Amino acid sequence: MPEFLIRLNIGREMAWIEDSEINDYSIIVSATVLESFPKRFTNAILKTRKPFIIDPYTHIFGYNVPQLRDKRWFAKLMGHYGIDLIVSPDDTLIPLNQLLDPKKLPTDKLKSFVENVMDYQRNRIQSICDEISEFEEFESSSDTSSTLSPKYIISPYFYLGYDSDTWRQVNVHCINTAINLKQNGEKIFAVILIDKTILAMSEDIDKIISDYNIEGVDGYFIWVTDFDEKTSRLSELLAFRRLVEKLSKLKKPIYNMYGGLYSFLLHKYGLSGVCHSICYGEHKDPFMIGGMLANVRYYQPLIRSKIPFSRRYEIEKTLDLDKCDCKYCKELPDVSTDSFGKQMELCGKHFLRVRANEINEIEHTSGKVLSNMKAVYEQAKKLDRILAYDSFYDQLDSWNDAITYNM
Ligand SMILES: [Zn+2]
Repeated sequence: MPEFLIRLNIGREMAWIEDSEINDYSIIVSATVLESFPKRFTNAILKTRKPFIIDPYTHIFGYNVPQLRDKRWFAKLMGHYGIDLIVSPDDTLIPLNQLLDPKKLPTDKLKSFVENVMDYQRNRIQSICDEISEFEEFESSSDTSSTLSPKYIISPYFYLGYDSDTWRQVNVHCINTAINLKQNGEKIFAVILIDKTILAMSEDIDKIISDYNIEGVDGYFIWVTDFDEKTSRLSELLAFRRLVEKLSKLKKPIYNMYGGLYSFLLHKYGLSGVCHSICYGEHKDPFMIGGMLANVRYYQPLIRSKIPFSRRYEIEKTLDLDKCDCKYCKELPDVSTDSFGKQMELCGKHFLRVRANEINEIEHTSGKVLSNMKAVYEQAKKLDRILAYDSFYDQLDSWNDAITYNM
């Protein structure tokens, strides 16, 4: 079964998950989000008792992103990761010469950085608990330690753009160091964060995979910068599939850090699971920090696409799409009523329900999902005479082509 890793960004999302019908999932929270609202997310993680992962988000310290420096969490993470001890007081970037010596071997600073990032993931939830006395009841419960340990430890990672040889070496040294520091039962995951342009460069992909093929690595997260499955051309979808297939030859679990339904469909080609948020966050630019959307979006289950909630009836009517009759949709307030929060919540719960069903379908009848996508695409295309809505359903055709393509 493809695994679903729900990425939390705001506190109230946890309540939506608990109240929805979804059961099989893990939680992923980035360190930036955890440091923004430590108490809220620690509480959420402890309450759900589901496996969780903390994404250390280290790439932002290797690249100059001035707009992030003023964020509250930035200085906190600098402290936790010991970056304030590596860089000069006015700087916030980790210079490469601090991580690699002239012979391109890892320095002691790289080692202590990796150790700090791992310790952060191991201990941060516990230390937040310790800071907040109201969590005492959790500390005394018998299975506290398993509740507080992350499912995987993510090795520090940096972005690979075009011609990023040195950063690739840094990443590899970080992974090796993390493996050496692995403790009993821990699983170390590497992140392959690459620019989208690299997807098309077969030799570069091969080089990265061979470099990251390290004994002791337990699995991989793939993050292709701003790779939007919905608007990607067939060639890009195929290039991503090729990356997954090549990586899967290493016989280790692979997750897409930010993906959607297309990634879930790649399960049969070796993708173990997908991370995304509740009805958003299915692709991401690694150097932009964004929260939730300003407009309510509704996931239309037949065209498998998010549409503006305000246009739902118009789109469903024109394309002759059956309405969802789940209990959340029945409760959905009229578009005209001023209840943004309620709309957002019910659209979110509806989305989780549909996504859980889709994952189940992919596991058991993935051929049926594809033929259904094809049929809905043909119907929509026929009814949408002036192609006013094609951006909402075109992906059905390209996803189907990319999955069924004979490579
Ligand atoms: Zn529904």
